[in-house]
Amino acid sequence: MQELIRQMLADLGEDPTREGLLNTPRLVEKALRFLKSGYDANIDDVLNGALFTVDYSEMVIVKDIDFYSLCEHHLLPFFGKCHVAYIPTNKVIGLSKIPRLVDVFSRRLQVQERLTNQIADTILDKVGPLGVAVVVEATHLCMSMRGVQKQNSFAVTSAMLGAFRNNSRTRMEFLELIKLRSPVPGIRETMRAGYACVGED
Ligand SMILES: [Zn+2]
Repeated sequence: MQELIRQMLADLGEDPTREGLLNTPRLVEKALRFLKSGYDANIDDVLNGALFTVDYSEMVIVKDIDFYSLCEHHLLPFFGKCHVAYIPTNKVIGLSKIPRLVDVFSRRLQVQERLTNQIADTILDKVGPLGVAVVVEATHLCMSMRGVQKQNSFAVTSAMLGAFRNNSRTRMEFLELIKLRSPVPGIRETMRAGYACVGED
């Protein structure tokens, strides 16, 4: 991979042998391998020992989970906050495991919609709750850095399953609770809608 990165630098008109770029191929490879390390994680290992049987059926919410991911079209970052809620039937998952799940799916080449769905589907599958809700709000550098949709490089996506899909009061309760989120850095509070990267030039 380091040879490919040296080649890319040369194609971009750079001199890969100049002092500032000598370590770049090694550092880029290391960074990219970390940023795709979610492919290597096994969900069952991540959740191992953290599913508990309880007599509790109120909504569990973990909000403002920071995440960083790479857009699969441009290999540029998109990043922001993820909010997760579920309503247990008889099992809960250790709270620290939910940010770990977000890491597993964000450290891959992604699109925001798929990231959102994968987190929700995994919790539905592994915890068997009455419902799951996931909201992801993110800034896409592939849009803002390249000047595409500069004012709308912030996108909100959601996945609502089970009780969150079927019961509007449950869904509203969740949305009301995450409205008090901390702002995404650099994003105005009023920017709610926008476009995730869909891979256009
Ligand atoms: Zn992109």
